[in-house]
Amino acid sequence: MFPLPVTTINITKLIKDDSKGIAIDILRLDEIHAIISGNKWFKLQYYLNEAIAKKATVIATFGGPYSNHIVATAYAGKITGITTKGYIRGEQPRVLSHTLQHCVTYGMELQFLSRLAYDNLKKSTALGNEYVIPEGGYGMLGSNGASNIQQFIPPNYNTIICAVGSGTMIAGLCKTQQPGQSILGIVITKGNTSIVNEINTLLPLDKHQNYTLNNGYHFGGYAKHTQELLLFMQQINHTYQVPLDFVYTAKAFYGVMDLYKNNYFAEGSNILFIHSGGIQGNSSLENYKAKA
Ligand SMILES: *Cc1c(COP(=O)(O)O)cnc(C)c1O
Repeated sequence: MFPLPVTTINITKLIKDDSKGIAIDILRLDEIHAIISGNKWFKLQYYLNEAIAKKATVIATFGGPYSNHIVATAYAGKITGITTKGYIRGEQPRVLSHTLQHCVTYGMELQFLSRLAYDNLKKSTALGNEYVIPEGGYGMLGSNGASNIQQFIPPNYNTIICAVGSGTMIAGLCKTQQPGQSILGIVITKGNTSIVNEINTLLPLDKHQNYTLNNGYHFGGYAKHTQELLLFMQQINHTYQVPLDFVYTAKAFYGVMDLYKNNYFAEGSNILFIHSGGIQGNSSLENYKAKA
């Protein structure tokens, strides 16, 4: 079994605006584990349980060189004693990213693939004797795992907001949506026209209307960023002591604050932003590290 490492998750209270009747707080999934951070433990849990039940000797998965999912899987392999293999998108670089260096430390075997070979191989559901976890943990087991995040959301929050990458986490939240709860996802990729379809594929038909997506805060696309975004991260960290990552949570939380300023939220909105982790990815931002 691969149980969650915690029984409670902290909530950081940020804003209580009585004039607008709005509160904004943050569920700190980033604090549950230093390496399998944020939503990744939730998303991996049922895959790992299945791999253990099937007595898999190798767990394989797919990701880019900065992937939070890849490093989380590598570490999970170390904990469970199962060998892991990472299929990495792109040619092998001269110097490995910090993320991939960590993967190697945790015992993961890396195999670099051209984009084309990667895209072909990632469609596989079984690779010889390897138990395959899909790229980013996307899939039914991943979203079932993410649905357990709801257990840590107190009932007084009526508005749940999270970042959307593959859509696995938001699909999970929709599966266990509570009465009176609205769920908003901020998409951190640009021009992903299939995201609604990918989310709905994980959901029964009667839950296809359970969420709203906002596409206005991708900052140029996946892992792209602007000086303004980096400044925002520094400000939030300085003012509230909440570190954000530049790929997912900074964009999504920027969206929350911008929507709040523009009076998007109705009076009485009690907002809980899901901090889905990812801080390790900031190690690819040399300048940010130096300034932080
Ligand atoms: C992986 C990840 C996400 C995206 O989750 P999906 O289930 O792929 O939508 C969001 N935030 C962080 C920090 C992540 O690492």
